[in-house]
Amino acid sequence: MKKVILQPIGNDNSIDNFKEKNSKRWAESTKYKKDWEESKEAIVLFTHDSVIFAKATISSIETSNHTKYPLNYYYDDIKFINIPFSKLRKITNFQDIYRNYTILNKSMSQKILDYFELLELKIYKKDEDYQKDIGEANLFDIKDESETPKEPKKGKNKSYYPRNKFRAKLALSRAAYTCEIDSNHTTFISKATNENYVEAHHLIPFNVQSEIDYNLDVTHNIVSLCPNCHKKIHLASFNDKKKMLDTLYNKHLEGLSIVHLDIGIDSLFSIYSE
Ligand SMILES: [Zn+2]
Ligand SMILES: [Zn+2]
Repeated sequence: MKKVILQPIGNDNSIDNFKEKNSKRWAESTKYKKDWEESKEAIVLFTHDSVIFAKATISSIETSNHTKYPLNYYYDDIKFINIPFSKLRKITNFQDIYRNYTILNKSMSQKILDYFELLELKIYKKDEDYQKDIGEANLFDIKDESETPKEPKKGKNKSYYPRNKFRAKLALSRAAYTCEIDSNHTTFISKATNENYVEAHHLIPFNVQSEIDYNLDVTHNIVSLCPNCHKKIHLASFNDKKKMLDTLYNKHLEGLSIVHLDIGIDSLFSIYSE
């Protein structure tokens, strides 16, 4: 069973700093050597200011000549998340404050892993509902595209941006219900549309809407993907995503500039690298 480790980053570090300098490595003093020996392949949760802001898997642990911090651990699969520490406290009945590197015991680790699994399932369930709604939407009901972003709605745990199923349907129909990565990616005939089944994906994702002045929920920003490519663009390693983004960006460049969303390929890469 995998272990879960809490790694607070000190107040002399900011999250931005961490993203810049430590995106693959964390250094620590020998004080934690024994703990480190037990840490391979563990899941590490980085905390700062009572928020768990990143989750990663430790891939290897090495020593260096650095006098103060001679231990380096390298990790893969880093995901920036934003979960209040209080949430985990509820799940595990944590008593401590955990100011230091801490390997959690078996039962706490398991509870946390279960929680993350559930969290991921919930996200997929939501997207499934959305794809189903799109299939059933009537194309004639499409309203004008508005360029001002909608206000986010307050959900149970976090706020979210409402998505318009009619626009998504229009985008899929413009792509002739083919996968925009490769039109040979055929799937099956959807009961709802009587067309090849594809899914709608927002090329510039909603998690950056608050930083962008124009509405992301517009047809030019919605791409049509086969379910496999859709999963891939969400879950693959950054290098694999890069090739897909290149293809999709070039296809949509003209449309994106019409709706003031031409953010440049490098910005798009950096959004997907997190
Ligand atoms: Zn998507
Ligand atoms: Zn595909």
